[in-house]
Amino acid sequence: MLVEKTGPRVLLKSLREAMAEQLGPQERLDRITQQIAAAMAAQVCSVYVRRADDVLELFGTFGLNAEAVHRSQLRVGQGLVGTIAGSGRALNLSDAQSHPAFAYLPETGEDPFQSFLGVPMKRAGRPLGVLTVQNTESRNYSEEDVEALETAAMVLCDLVVSGGFKNLANEGAQLDQSRPISTTGTGLAEGIARGTVVLHEPRVVVENLFGDDAEQETHRLAQAISSLRASVDAMVERTSANDKDDTNHDHIDVLESYRMFAHDRGWVRRIESAIQDGLTAEAAVEKVSQENRSRLQGSPNPYLRERLTDFDDLARRLMKQLMGRAAAEGVEEPFIVVARSMGAAELLDYDNGHLRGLVIEEATATSHVVIVARALGIPVVGQVEGFVSRAENGDAIIADGDEGIAHLRPADDVVASYDERMEFRVARAARFDALRGQPSETRDGVPINLMLNAGLTMDLQQLETSGAAGIGLFRTELQFMIASKLPRLDEQTRFYRTIMDAAGDKPVTFRTLDIGGDKVLPYLRTVKEDNPALGWRAIRLAIDRPGLLRVQLRALIKAAAGRRLKIKIPMVTMVTEIDQVRVILDREMEAQARFGHDLPASVELGCMIEVPSLLFQLDEVMERVDFVSVGSNDLFQFMAASDRTNSYLANRFNPLSRPFLRALREIVRAADRHDTPLQLCGELAGDPLSVLALIGIGYRTISMPPAAIGPVKELVRAMDCAHVCAHVGAMVDETIGTRTVPEVLRDFADENGLPV
Ligand code: PEP
Ligand code: MG
Repeated sequence: MLVEKTGPRVLLKSLREAMAEQLGPQERLDRITQQIAAAMAAQVCSVYVRRADDVLELFGTFGLNAEAVHRSQLRVGQGLVGTIAGSGRALNLSDAQSHPAFAYLPETGEDPFQSFLGVPMKRAGRPLGVLTVQNTESRNYSEEDVEALETAAMVLCDLVVSGGFKNLANEGAQLDQSRPISTTGTGLAEGIARGTVVLHEPRVVVENLFGDDAEQETHRLAQAISSLRASVDAMVERTSANDKDDTNHDHIDVLESYRMFAHDRGWVRRIESAIQDGLTAEAAVEKVSQENRSRLQGSPNPYLRERLTDFDDLARRLMKQLMGRAAAEGVEEPFIVVARSMGAAELLDYDNGHLRGLVIEEATATSHVVIVARALGIPVVGQVEGFVSRAENGDAIIADGDEGIAHLRPADDVVASYDERMEFRVARAARFDALRGQPSETRDGVPINLMLNAGLTMDLQQLETSGAAGIGLFRTELQFMIASKLPRLDEQTRFYRTIMDAAGDKPVTFRTLDIGGDKVLPYLRTVKEDNPALGWRAIRLAIDRPGLLRVQLRALIKAAAGRRLKIKIPMVTMVTEIDQVRVILDREMEAQARFGHDLPASVELGCMIEVPSLLFQLDEVMERVDFVSVGSNDLFQFMAASDRTNSYLANRFNPLSRPFLRALREIVRAADRHDTPLQLCGELAGDPLSVLALIGIGYRTISMPPAAIGPVKELVRAMDCAHVCAHVGAMVDETIGTRTVPEVLRDFADENGLPV
């Protein structure tokens, strides 16, 4: 049987008709295999779909024994088909039987076929199955044949992910794309959420696969390409303009190569040619991306593999230009965004009242997007490698930020157990809610001030709902980080005024900009540093570039007219830095007075204790400031010489240890000597077990994330302060090497019925 080749355009057209026709699923698949065989002048076309148990099952064939459908099966890695699924790469063989992986399956009756072409059916890099054609005669399939088969594979992938094959699988067998997957990563923001997946990086779906009008699609592509180029050009210009000292060479080189790809004629031509074959602009971009991926992924050359990331990123941007809308638009049910990586501002775009959680492959607890997610009060699961490629828009998902697990398409028993946990959380929240109006006071009458950490306007509603006594740490840099350009004086003034208005009588402590290190502002030139956490950051940068600090202080003074103003300085190393800020602050106050503006009713200047060198100049610090504030995250990372963003060290050293508690107690003693108000902020303040230790060594004001206020208040109200202080004091004095601090504290809490 010899059939004439018809080419990809005709093939796509006939596939499209087969998709549109009213056919049963098996009938449709048989029609498709027949059309592919015809278009490629092949005697056989077969579709193998990957099941959840990693078996490739023959789902449909034209030319092989029909009896073998759903009976013929290969494991991934077995035979030619299994090899393609395993490697994710095409096999083009003029003499298939001499290939070492060839496995003869008698039920298929494939012995007379000599040549073989097979391509993976891939969706976002994940193999969903394999599509093959075979010929009796020895035949060298051309580049064009491979491309045509890849296009057909794309159509079939869409059928697989849209559930078109679900009912065809053998009874009891699950298709790979319907398999429940639980991936353990890291919990970056606590809480549990259930919803459906919204993919951050857009993907083509069946309804926009086939193009009606190639001319119009080419026009859409041209428009999208030109705005893509404009945005990349602007990115390069902006970076070069900021690089007056030539310090940013590497970054600019990367951007330049990025620009080169965006202007690459070959890339665009290949997309145009796929449009001519009958695809929409979106589908054509996706197809060319897949080809690039297959070509470059297996390359031994690391430079080429790196370029793949550039191409992928560009393709994603181009796709966004073409689609012009976020996948979440119009979603009217709870959803969870699943992303490879994401900027903070992008997450805010999704906040339509139905956003419930975030699962993100590339992020750590201090990533900006995670900080924003916490402000939105949604759980985040991070460091879940490969998760994005397994998820589809609309899949059911549970994001467990407490345990750091994302469950994709969870089984019924998993859903049921989470429903129970969510009910428990609701009950717990109701308990905390009832505590809101109650004083935060120990049983023996010692008041403990529970303050809130905040940084965005959206945090302020938590001030009301959590019952916190004020804002102990307002991270001003967050507003700068989500802005697209440096906020001007009037914008900053308005913003700080809004915060103070919303806080009403409750005090707000503003921290001056803590940028540098990992907190970069996209519009400010940064220098490449080998150890950014130990680098040119926070107050160091502010003293060298006083313009930024001056404007910020001016805005704060204006916003606080007639009210109490509390400001604290991050990352102070030497007391002289406090003096330098004091000079700038005094000058700004004088200038405001000179211009006849209303001044704040009072101004308090505080110093954060985050650098261990301050522990040895505590008396000098206390003499100079109106209050001190321990930043326990940084103080601990510097004392333990242990990078707080390094996941390898995350659980190695525990701040709940005698040396660290001794250091924290020295600060309490110095503050007491000078009668200087003291507070502590940082993650320690939000963990009930740590709070037990902090209160035990003398801390009475602590600032924490909103979700921690309820549990901490419950603990405070259950404890006897004098008893806790005696016990913790003795424990801190004990010789190191005896029982660990968490062990001692846990036993104490158990014996005294304290909720930790
Ligand atoms: C800290 O270091 O403890 C702190 C509160 O500041 P940040 O986490 O913003 O560095
Ligand atoms: Mg800090």
